[in-house]
Amino acid sequence: MYSTCAFCNAKLDGDGGPSGLGVGRRIAFDEWKGRLWVICGKCARWNLTPFDDRLERIEAVARAASAGRIAASTPQIALIRWEAYHLVRVGKPPRQELATWRYGERLAQRARDRAKITVPLAVAAIGIGIVANVAAGGGLGVIVWNLHNFTESIYVGIVGRRRVALVEPPSCARCGTVMQLRAKHLQHSRVIPESRADLAVLVSCPHCHEEGAMLTGDAAAQLLRQGLSYLNATRSGRRSAVDAARTVDQAGGADGLIREVARREQTLRALRPGRRLALEMAVDEQMELLELERQWREAEELADIADGTLSTTAEVEEKMRQLRGPEGNQLSG
Ligand SMILES: [Zn+2]
Ligand SMILES: [Zn+2]
Repeated sequence: MYSTCAFCNAKLDGDGGPSGLGVGRRIAFDEWKGRLWVICGKCARWNLTPFDDRLERIEAVARAASAGRIAASTPQIALIRWEAYHLVRVGKPPRQELATWRYGERLAQRARDRAKITVPLAVAAIGIGIVANVAAGGGLGVIVWNLHNFTESIYVGIVGRRRVALVEPPSCARCGTVMQLRAKHLQHSRVIPESRADLAVLVSCPHCHEEGAMLTGDAAAQLLRQGLSYLNATRSGRRSAVDAARTVDQAGGADGLIREVARREQTLRALRPGRRLALEMAVDEQMELLELERQWREAEELADIADGTLSTTAEVEEKMRQLRGPEGNQLSG
């Protein structure tokens, strides 16, 4: 088995876990077609594994997957977490309920993120506060009570000032300025129904405060992630993962929740807090799945060539030309 990615040459991460490949942390498999890929941690492309003992390895991965937990799924693809591995099952899985555990990891990460800022601040403030308070002859209780509000507001402020990372900042259709968006500006934006895109967001201009641009696809997802992270960082925005997961399930999955929110066309700020967290999670999952599906289709075509499904040399050459891209990527396997 190779140890580097055939597309970008990066060293593949992980030890392969249940696959026994000795490499890979994110592994994709298709039991129906007998395919096994290691997904590159750097460029996210799918490296087809050598054929020899692939079937036994797929069986081992499928066994682990059935003991794992489904993070998200479409009719074609399921993202399954098992121990430290991400397993991507391709093909027709039995329909399973999405579990609530899937959001736990994300909320824990957010709590750690907050602690990085609030804990050192609290330590510093207690130091100053005790000195000042003891000097003034006061008690400790008042300080501790104020401290919580103080560190919270600093944390929310920091999240709100984070720049929104867009490849191309939109221009406002009303006042013509290029929008320099920060997370807090996005509270006035709205998810709207748009038949030509998976996701569409109307953005309010920080300069003239009119709705000046519509973003779709990845850019819309990026806006929503940052805007909702900001709103969900506030105390009223904090909700349990279990409630949010239930909200997503009641809407019939990530896709359904996004459609529901779009139909009402409310600003992010007007959404109920529980719904905001649910929407944030739904957007993440939806986008991750769309990306996985795209990569899978590409990997599937490469696998056809490697397994000799395409019969004539001309067919193979044509396929290779389509897939090769500008840098002339090599076929693995
Ligand atoms: Zn790579
Ligand atoms: Zn404007």
